[in-house]
Amino acid sequence: MISTLLKAASVAALLSSSAFAADTDWNERFKEILGKSITFHTAEGHGQVPAYAAYLADQLKAGGFAAEDIHILPHGETAALVVRYRGDGSAGKKPILLAAHMDVVEAKREDWERDPFTMVEENGYLFGRGIVDNKFGVTSLVTTFLRLKAEGYVPNRDLVIAFSGDEESSMVTTKAIANEHRDLTDAEFVLNADAGGGTIGEDGKVLSYSLQAAEKTYATFHLTVTDPGGHSSRPTGSNAIYRLAKALTAIENYSFPVNTNDITLGFFKAQGPLTGGELGAAMTAFAKNPKDKKAVATLRKQASYVGVTGTTCVATMLEGGHAENALPQSAVATVNCRIFPGEGVALTQERLQKAVNDDHVVFTQRGESTESPASPLRDDIMTAVTDAVHANFPGLPIIPAMSPGATDGMHYRAAGMPTYGIESIYMKNSDGFSHGLNERVPVATIPVALDQMYRVLTTLTK
Ligand SMILES: [Zn+2]
Repeated sequence: MISTLLKAASVAALLSSSAFAADTDWNERFKEILGKSITFHTAEGHGQVPAYAAYLADQLKAGGFAAEDIHILPHGETAALVVRYRGDGSAGKKPILLAAHMDVVEAKREDWERDPFTMVEENGYLFGRGIVDNKFGVTSLVTTFLRLKAEGYVPNRDLVIAFSGDEESSMVTTKAIANEHRDLTDAEFVLNADAGGGTIGEDGKVLSYSLQAAEKTYATFHLTVTDPGGHSSRPTGSNAIYRLAKALTAIENYSFPVNTNDITLGFFKAQGPLTGGELGAAMTAFAKNPKDKKAVATLRKQASYVGVTGTTCVATMLEGGHAENALPQSAVATVNCRIFPGEGVALTQERLQKAVNDDHVVFTQRGESTESPASPLRDDIMTAVTDAVHANFPGLPIIPAMSPGATDGMHYRAAGMPTYGIESIYMKNSDGFSHGLNERVPVATIPVALDQMYRVLTTLTK
C-alpha cells in the first residue's frame, strides 16, 4: 500500500510538478484545510487573519503556486490574500476573480455547546465558527486551485483568488482589493463563494439552487426631533416624542414604489411554481406583470418577499426624553433601509422625508453606503453554473437572487466588476446558523460542493 502510494506520488510529481499525488482524496484534503482554518480566531480585533492568510499561502506554495503569484496585503490588524493561477491567455480575456472572506463573526466559547474554534464532526455535521460563513468558501476555492494544479490544468485565462479579511466588519480590505490593488485583481467578473447556494427541504429533498447577482444597498438614518422641553405638568403642543411618533407612523404607512430587474423577475418566475398555492400564483403573476396590484399586495405581506419587490425601510431603534417628569428635549429613531439597486440613498431619504412631511424631523445618514448595480445575467455564467449544478442534480431549478445586503460583492459591483454568488453548499434552511450559535454544515455537501466549484471554474476557462 505504501509503495503504491509513493509510486503514485512520484508519477504525479513528474506529471504536474505538484507536491500532491494525482490520487489525492480532495474531500479529505478539503476537510483537513477546513479544520485548520477553523482554528484561526479571525473575528475582528484578534489579529489572526494575517496568520490564516499565511497558512493558506503555504498550502498553495506547497501545491505548486509561485511565491510571486501570492500576495498577502496587510491592512491594520487584518489582511487580504490574492493568488493568481496563471492561464495561457488563449481566451484573450481578462481574468476571473474568485472572492471569499477569511474573517468571521465573533463567537464566545461559553455560549457554544462545543469549542467554536475547533472543528467537530458529529451526526453528519461539521461544527465551528465560520464553517459556513465563509471558511467553507475559502477552503473550496483553495482546494480547487490545488486540485487543478495537481492535474496540470492550464486555464485559458488567469483565475485570481481574492480573499478579504474584514467582510463582517468594515470591508476595508474588500474596498482595497476592488480599487487600490486593481493591478493584481482587475477582472472581467467576480465569482463570490460567499453568496448563493443550494436549498434542501426539511424532508431532505434538494429543492433549488440560487445564484446571487444583485444586492440591495444598506443605509441607516437617524430621525431626530428636538424641543425646548419643560415641566411635565405643563404640556405643550410641540412634544418631541409625539412628533417623532407621527413621523414613524407615516413611514410605517408609506409604501415604496414597486421595482424590478432581471434578477428579481427571474427569481419570482422560478420560485412561483416551486412555492405553489396563492403565494406561488402571486409570484408567477408578478413575474409576468409587476403592475398586478393583487400580486404585489400578496407578496408585500410576506417578510421574505416584500424586499424583493422594492425598497424597504423600517424603524429599528428608539430613544427619547431624559426624565419621567420633564417634557422631552429630544427624541431619536433609527430607521434601517434596504434600497433596491439603482434607486440610491438620496432618493430614498427624499421619499421618506416627503412621507413624513415635517421639517422639524431632521434626517441624518449613519455611516456610509455603497451603492452597487445589479449584475447582468450573462449566458456564459448562467450556462456554466447550470451545467455544474445539473451534473449532480439533473433539472434542478436555478434561481437568480438579489440579497438584502451586504457582501463583498457590492464593492466589486460598485467598482465595475459584475459579481455572481456561486457558493456551492447545499443545506436546509433550518441548519442555517451563520453568525449564530453552533454554526454547522452537512458533511455530505462537501463532495458536491467541490465537484460543482471544479466544474464551474473549468467550464469558464477551457
Ligand atoms: Zn460571509
